[in-house]
Amino acid sequence: MSEQKTIQTDLFVIGGGINGTGVALDATLRGLDVVLCEAEDLASATSSASSKLVHGGLRYLEQYEFKLVKEALKEREVLLKKAPHLIQPLRFILPHAKHLRPVWMIKAGLFLYDFLAGKMSLDKSKKVALKGTKEGQGLIDDFSVGFSYSDCRIDDARMVVANAKQAQENGAKVLLPYRCIEAKKIDGLWRAKLINKENETIIVEAKAIVNAAGPWVAQLIHEVLDTPSKSSVRLIKGSHIVVPKMYEGDHAYILQNKDGRIVFALPYGFVSKTENQFTLIGTTDVNYQGDPRDVHISDKEKHYLCDLINGYFKQKISLQDIIWEYAGVRPLYDDKAKKASEITREYHLELEDEHGKLPVLSIFGGKITTFRTLSKKVVDQLKPYFPEMRPCVTDTVPTLGGDMESLDQLLIALNRRYQWLDTKLAYRLATAYGTKVFNILEDAKSTADLGQCFGHYFYEAEAKYLINEEWCHSLESMIWRRSKLGLWLNPSQKQALEDWLKQQLN
Ligand SMILES: Cc1cc2nc3c(=O)[nH]c(=O)nc-3n(C[C@H](O)[C@H](O)[C@H](O)COP(=O)(O)OP(=O)(O)OC[C@H]3O[C@@H](n4cnc5c(N)ncnc54)[C@H](O)[C@@H]3O)c2cc1C
Repeated sequence: MSEQKTIQTDLFVIGGGINGTGVALDATLRGLDVVLCEAEDLASATSSASSKLVHGGLRYLEQYEFKLVKEALKEREVLLKKAPHLIQPLRFILPHAKHLRPVWMIKAGLFLYDFLAGKMSLDKSKKVALKGTKEGQGLIDDFSVGFSYSDCRIDDARMVVANAKQAQENGAKVLLPYRCIEAKKIDGLWRAKLINKENETIIVEAKAIVNAAGPWVAQLIHEVLDTPSKSSVRLIKGSHIVVPKMYEGDHAYILQNKDGRIVFALPYGFVSKTENQFTLIGTTDVNYQGDPRDVHISDKEKHYLCDLINGYFKQKISLQDIIWEYAGVRPLYDDKAKKASEITREYHLELEDEHGKLPVLSIFGGKITTFRTLSKKVVDQLKPYFPEMRPCVTDTVPTLGGDMESLDQLLIALNRRYQWLDTKLAYRLATAYGTKVFNILEDAKSTADLGQCFGHYFYEAEAKYLINEEWCHSLESMIWRRSKLGLWLNPSQKQALEDWLKQQLN
């Protein structure tokens, strides 16, 4: 029988989504010893299924979620500075549909949105003409005016990986794929049992636990940690589709529907600062009861999204145009709201301990946008148990790869050092890895030095970096989470890559 490994630590974080990795990074930078475990892959659940926006959430103003919107808008500025490679400004156009929300309401909402953001580097909202303009050229003739406002786009899954890697570089242990199946209080410590797919086990002995299991937060509380809980979670499914580019321009659309819901049409698959190849459309809001691992978009949702888009754009789409789709569930804090779209988007933290010791803190809800402030609050709440802990620094420390003056400066530096590098590849690498791109390209003098090409400028050097540095252990992880190369590679290229990957992992 193989010997069982035991790791001792201050803080044990369960879940490798945006919140778990955010907490692990924050705690590590404050001097705590941290272990994080993830059952499948980093960002394998909700954190790779978002609308990929760093935003206040204009529509949440209608639910009077002013506190949340303000926190998220302020955080937008912080994240833009910390991670200029992963986050870029995005201009939204809201076409005015006469029979839906009145102009005064939209104007008031946008004014409030800008006001809550406070001092901002992004352009403020304004009225825009849609007839004969770039902003309106893809739309049907019914729309003559609209409004524009600012938010940002983000690579959600890469932000998760950047957090995990940065936590690791600062001393955290990241264990994956390892599922936590049991945690008990024994001799003044939490004793957690982790297991992987080969039935290898690891024991983690910790002074505190953070339950960042997202959609599984309640299951973890009741079945793994066996602790009491006053809170429950509501799972709300949201789905997206990706189609070939529907309109020219690098702006996004926020579209109102007759049922009161809104849907985004977002430029996706950027190959340069302004040029993109796809349109990402989402999202729906549906109550969900099934297994959070097995969540899929239904045909009904696909028709809903296509019908809405066809009511706005000249170019029509149908289910046959969909080249990729994904769905995820929001693990929302259950405030007993009736409609899925009305449940609070505020996060909720629940802390339990035993006579001032052995805390376990469970995270309900949250947004990609607010992961850093959420993580700060989580670690702040653990201060009484770790009085020697240093103050939070994540507001100023750049995200991994974000230590640059600007994305433009990084692109210039890349062009100077690797003059042979294709501009599309340079843009993709810079926006995925930031300054870590130099660890991939190293001293390469031509594309031949990057090794085998698997298609769409994806070379062996990058694939090896993903395996060796980013815990990448499957084709899916490589082409749908660490990158979105799956959108470009054809079936035989995917097969060749899978064969190569199998050889590398053996
Ligand atoms: C459709 C949709 C659109 C969204 N759009 C946006 C947006 O545009 N902007 C925004 O800011 N937010 C958005 N959100 C919200 C955001 O995506 C989520 O709030 C966030 O990703 C939740 O992250 P998490 O870390 O809590 O959960 P998850 O990402 O689900 O991570 C939890 C992890 O825990 C792991 N795990 C579970 N149990 C165990 C165990 N026993 N042992 C080990 N690991 C375990 C899982 O494998 C999983 O990886 C959206 C959400 C949805 C669903």
